[in-house]
Amino acid sequence: MGENESTEENKKAEDELIKQSICPVCKAKLKHTEGCLECAACGWSLCLEA
Ligand SMILES: [Zn+2]
Repeated sequence: MGENESTEENKKAEDELIKQSICPVCKAKLKHTEGCLECAACGWSLCLEA
């Protein structure tokens, strides 16, 4: 399963973008809703568990 490494890297890069409120898919600015992050441009969303 040597492909796990690049997946890990992608996830890390995604996390960094998300921290900066940037959509990891289309790089648009994310909108904060109740406990969630949403991208109005592509529909990506992430809900953080409290
Ligand atoms: Zn997006």
